Amino acid sequence: MALPLPVAGNSSVSARDAWTSFRERRDALVARMEMSVCDGCDGCGHRCIDGFKVTREEYDAAQAYLATQPPGEVARVLGQNKTASWPGAEETGATFIYCRYRDTENNNCFIYPARPTVSRLFGHIPWLPCPIEAVTRIPDGSQELWREYVRLERRTWAEWDAAAAAAAVREAESP
Ligand code: SF4
Repeated sequence: MALPLPVAGNSSVSARDAWTSFRERRDALVARMEMSVCDGCDGCGHRCIDGFKVTREEYDAAQAYLATQPPGEVARVLGQNKTASWPGAEETGATFIYCRYRDTENNNCFIYPARPTVSRLFGHIPWLPCPIEAVTRIPDGSQELWREYVRLERRTWAEWDAAAAAAAVREAESP
């Protein structure tokens, strides 16, 4: 069951309408991106570090996509050790944790069709540039779109897990 979403800014517009409007403009921006250079590249994937925030709709989309996948594959990816050495600082013992949906055996995103906005824009917005400098053209409007995105209610995957679990408990306890 989806949690009620708080409305940011304009109370006359529901949060879901705000998301739908945002997603349409995001997808239009993605359609203008220089995506041909990304075909077959996993350069961004090594930067998919846990802890970024997504909207409730993105969380729900990931859950819905996982439900279409073989349970054994889902368990394989979610059961992987996501801790990796910090690139270039291996000798220091510094580590980071990959996104839970990063398939560290196959080096790809397990929920790619349902990936959140930050993953779709990675490499194509000024503050999150292509790490191998293959992208040469940033579409107009990417900064504005990102500013709009961060005004939406966003939480980490784990925070949404907790919110969904709490909502399920409330639902079970309601008369
Ligand atoms: S943005 Fe750069 S690193 Fe990321 S997939 Fe595209 S070409 Fe590869």
